[in-house]
Amino acid sequence: MIDIQESELVTEASVFDKLSEKGHEQVVFCHDEATGLKAIIAIHNTVLGPALGGTRMWNYSTEQEALTDVLRLSRGMTFKAAISGLNIGGGKAVIIGDAAKLKSEAFMRRFGKFVDSLGGRYITAEDVNMKTRDMEYIHMETKHVTGLPESMGGGGDPSPVTAFGSYLGMKAMAKKVYGSESLNNKVITVQGVGQVGMYLVEHLAKEGAKIFITDISEEKLKNVAGKFGATVVDEDKIYDLDMDIYAPCALGATLNDDSIPRLKCSIVAGAANNQLAHEKKHGYMLIERGIAYAPDFVINAGGLINVYNEYLGGYNRNRAYTHAEKIYDSILNIAHESQEHEISPQEAAIKLAKKRIEDIGKVKLPY
Ligand code: NAD
Repeated sequence: MIDIQESELVTEASVFDKLSEKGHEQVVFCHDEATGLKAIIAIHNTVLGPALGGTRMWNYSTEQEALTDVLRLSRGMTFKAAISGLNIGGGKAVIIGDAAKLKSEAFMRRFGKFVDSLGGRYITAEDVNMKTRDMEYIHMETKHVTGLPESMGGGGDPSPVTAFGSYLGMKAMAKKVYGSESLNNKVITVQGVGQVGMYLVEHLAKEGAKIFITDISEEKLKNVAGKFGATVVDEDKIYDLDMDIYAPCALGATLNDDSIPRLKCSIVAGAANNQLAHEKKHGYMLIERGIAYAPDFVINAGGLINVYNEYLGGYNRNRAYTHAEKIYDSILNIAHESQEHEISPQEAAIKLAKKRIEDIGKVKLPY
């Protein structure tokens, strides 16, 4: 989950250098003796709106690792929001420690108080090791929280919206590469049939794709294969399969020195976060192999779009789905930009995101 290189680690001496290098606005260290809470909230950029991003709880081996992770993740949220046309900025929080041992009502509410102290500059949501129940506790102390259950006016599980956006992004890639968005009869391998992967398979099955699936959970494989007529593949055989589209929906960093030379597909389009082990190197390696890549933070933005719609108020699932449909055009736009300027799709996406922040930043005149 945490794949930080030693060279990336932020040292005590370099904190402000790192903040200015990556353009962070504010980093808040939160500590509470009574509950044992240690958290870091990073606000990367608020030009487009308040910084929205989930809270991740992880047993980091060092505090440096936690700081590096939150700085990197919050910056990623800025680009994800900007490229998705949302009027929010990028932020993220990490809580240091073992979720199974530390989490309690008091612990989460204390964290909620810290979120509240930022007065809405940062809005939190779920991420790794955070559950809807935790968001409910945070909500007892602050209104600046999303990811609440539908019964409380929240957006509920974002996975179906993420899967829907990924499905449309995949269709846009097919349009670009094959000249038709149809996925009928296309051989598609979905790696990871968890929450997002399973819903994605459902869309693909409806369209008549030939679906292969892999997972480390026998139970999930059995369930999804049975329901949607997908064929199960061994976990380590997935990269060698003759396929049209590879859809990573499990782990990060699966596009690396080992897997890219083995891939026989023409498109990579899936929902997993941080798919490229090394953003630049592996982005270009895919181009050299003639494989079109849908940048992960663009194609998987459905989850953020879902919580954004919750933040707008009066959550409406149809509105969230309509909003997620825009992922199709974003993916096509990025593919054109990448081709025209001979840069990787990842770089093209970041360039477009930065441009939107810059353009909208100029629109916001003082009163
Ligand atoms: P999940 O935990 O429900 O599903 C992940 C699945 O991957 C599980 O079934 C797990 O058994 C499987 N898996 C783990 N290791 C594997 C391996 N080595 N090979 C094959 N399968 C393996 O998670 P999810 O919510 O479906 O998210 C999937 C990915 O999409 C993650 O990378 C997540 O960060 C990203 N994502 C999810 C959302 C969302 O709305 N849930 C939004 C944006 C991005």
